[in-house]
Parts: sequence; C-alpha cells; structure tokens
Amino acid sequence: MSPSEKAQPVVMKLLGVSLPQVHLFAVGFVTIGTILVLSLLPSDKVEANRRSHTIALPNDSEPAAVDTQKTPSSLTGTMAIKQSDGHSGNTITKSMLDKPNKQSRAWQTTTLVSGDNLTSIFKRLGLSDVDVYLVANAKQESSRLKRLKPGETVAITTDAAGQLEQVKYSRSKLEHYFYKRDGQGFDGEKVVHEPEIIQTFQQGQIENSLFLDASRAGLTDAKIMELANIFGWDIDFALDIRRGDRFSVLYEEKILEGEKVGNGNILAASFTNQGRTYDAVLFRETDNSLGYYAPDGKPMRKAFLRAPLDFTRISSNFNMRRKHPIHKKIKAHRGVDYAAPRGTPIYAAGNGKVTASAYSKANGNYVFIRHGEGFVTKYLHLTKRKVRKGQSVKQRQTIGTVGSTGYATGPHLHYEFVVNGVHRNPRTVKLPEARPIVTSKKPAFIAQTTPLLVRLKQLGGTQIASLSPNLRAADK
Ligand SMILES: [Zn+2]
Repeated sequence: MSPSEKAQPVVMKLLGVSLPQVHLFAVGFVTIGTILVLSLLPSDKVEANRRSHTIALPNDSEPAAVDTQKTPSSLTGTMAIKQSDGHSGNTITKSMLDKPNKQSRAWQTTTLVSGDNLTSIFKRLGLSDVDVYLVANAKQESSRLKRLKPGETVAITTDAAGQLEQVKYSRSKLEHYFYKRDGQGFDGEKVVHEPEIIQTFQQGQIENSLFLDASRAGLTDAKIMELANIFGWDIDFALDIRRGDRFSVLYEEKILEGEKVGNGNILAASFTNQGRTYDAVLFRETDNSLGYYAPDGKPMRKAFLRAPLDFTRISSNFNMRRKHPIHKKIKAHRGVDYAAPRGTPIYAAGNGKVTASAYSKANGNYVFIRHGEGFVTKYLHLTKRKVRKGQSVKQRQTIGTVGSTGYATGPHLHYEFVVNGVHRNPRTVKLPEARPIVTSKKPAFIAQTTPLLVRLKQLGGTQIASLSPNLRAADK
C-alpha cells in the first residue's frame, strides 16, 4: 500500500470541511503527499462530506437564502424576529416590513468609517440636510443614530421621485434599526433577529498536533481551545497527545438568512488519547449555568490541571517526547519537564496558597503552592514570578513564565507534584474524585445529555462508516 492510499481515508475524515488553511501551527507540517491526495479528491465527494457534518435540529426549518439587499419583508416567515424596544405586544410594524412599497428601489448601502456621522453618511448617499434633520428627529430610536461606529452599515431606499423612503441602520447582522417616513417626519423601530441554532459535527484524528488537525477538521481556534479546556483536567495536551488520537465534537452554529453568523456552545465531545476515550457533555442547570460532565454525571473540571501551562505555545507536541538533555545528569529527577518557549505562561494547577516565591541557585525563580491538605505543586526555572508568598491563587491563574533560571540549559518548566510529602508523577497520580451531580438533578441530567451523547456517537460512527470500512473496523 502506498503512503497516499493509506492517507486518503484518514485525510478525508480529517478534512470534512475545507482544504488546509494557514494556521498557527500549520507551518509547512502537512506532507506534500497529503496535499496532493487532497487536491486529487473529487470535490463533490468532499462537498457531500461537508454537508453531512451540518445537521438541523429536529424542529428547525431549512433556512432560506435571503438577499440582504432586498426589502426586510423577505425576512419574515423564515426567521424569528424579536422586538426588544419595549413596545408591548407590538411585533414589527406590519406596514413597515410586510408591504414593501412597489415603487421603492433597491437598498443603497454604505459602510461607516471612522469619523462618520449622519450628515456625512447622508451626503455620501446623496441625501439632503432636511433628510438628516427628519431622521435625526425620528419619534423612536433617534438617539441610536448618535452612537454610530465604524464597520456598521446604513442603507436607504428612495421612491421614484428620489425622495428618502426608509433608512436601515445595522449594528450587526442581528441588530437593525429601521426609520420610515411617518406623516411629516420619521419613525424608528428596532429589529433584532434571533439566529437559528443548528448542530454541527466535526471529527478528526491527530497526525501532527491538536491545533493543526482540529483546524483542518473545520474547528476554529476558539473551539479548539474550548475542546482542550473541557478535557484539560484528564489529558495533558502538552505532553500526552499522540498520533492516532481522535476527537469528535458536536457544537452549535448560529445561522441567519442561511449564513453562519457565529458559533454557540460545544454540546458534546469525545477525545481518545492513547487508546483511552473520554466523553464530555454539556449540562444546563435550571439557573442557566453551564458545565461539562462525564456521561456518569461527574464534572470534567477537577481539582488539578494535568498540564500547568499554556500548551498552545508548545509548537511540536511529538518532539517533546524525546528526552531532552537538561536533566540527563541529575539522578533523582522528581518532576516533569515541559520544554516551552521562554515567556510561556505557567498556570496554578489548582486553587491554593503560595508558600514560596523566591530565587535559588539550583531552582532559579521558583513558586510553590499548597492546595488544601496534603497537596503541594512546585514550578521551577521561571523567567518571571507573578505571585508573592502568602497569596491565594485560583486554578489557571498565571503564576509566572517559562525560563531557564537556575540549573537549566534551556527554557523549560520543571513541575513537581507532592502528595503528603511524597513526590508523585503529576501526569499519572490518582487525584481525589470529583463528586457527581446530585441525585435530585440526575433525571434532568440524563434527559438533557443522553440525546447529545447518542448523537455524538451516531455521527462519529456514520462518518467513519461512510468513509472507510477499514477505519470503522479499526474503531471497534
Ligand atoms: Zn526537571
């Protein structure tokens, strides 16, 4: 089997969405062979695969493609429109939206630049000072026009005689203000569009790094960070990621007028690290607070982070597996070394109190933190210390930055985890189990999370099956 034949199913699986994008860690790491395979894939196949990733919620109607330059009436019926300007029970003025004036011409739109005000905008659109005066004194929502910002848009329509008919001021794709002629003057109306939420599924396999492979699978940097944060208590993303690790994610996308306007929450996710699979699912409490849990109801969040530093700064996960020479000659090496660029933020592994923040010849700049009874974490060779002795710290708070002070030949974090006075391997030490969700919430938890987990697993299976029987077999 040639390498390219072997690569194809995996690559298709990884690349559900788009061809490789330039990325933080994507710097030329993709093998040329892989790129060739990709460019040879029939595009319709990739397209079909892409479509299969996006699934609408059971009750969602297919969003209709709407030309934003048309009159707003085309929005009604396909999108839920909410009015939030305080008029009770008055859905968008029907005369404004549902009956476009037959004589009205197309919207003329201008994008605001720095220094713009209504006068400069109207001048650009060929309107008069009288128009400025009338719209600026609209009965409702006129004050909004005094807080215009660059990047926002203003659109107008005029009638056959060239007289201003309607003004549409858009603060975002979701928030608009309409001003329409009303008697001698103008009246304004705020219109907020509620985006449709759909569920999207992506999955991939690690070939190079989490960032490279996950972005190639279609996840944004923000979503990759969210994914890593969900599993960061169980998986050391700096040292433990291996080729062949797999991930799958079910998350929300916000759609308006057939166009994606943003991402929502990760709803469920799975990460298989060195053969062990971790599943997580979102649970929304009755007070709307959100948290990630294992399917058995135990919180994903633990007392200690597995890796006490910003792993995204570590460019090559796999190279880190090589034993680096820094501690080769030190006999009893009682910690874990994270080779990372100088200045990489170091986090408190858990909530606690700083018991030492000092400098010594061997340790260089170092910080010790005590966490409750019996747990101490130690951080050595820092460039800078950012906490003082006696200070309380929160988990993931930056306590210093990676350096090479003390007995260190290169920038790295030497990290120790001490339990009741005994050094333990921070990456494998058994930590106190977090308490599962309380019994009274269990029925709601199961009702809410089971469909998400089922969907995550089904989509994962379907994807694999549709791509390659070999991969599916390998998955069992
Ligand atoms: Zn060390």
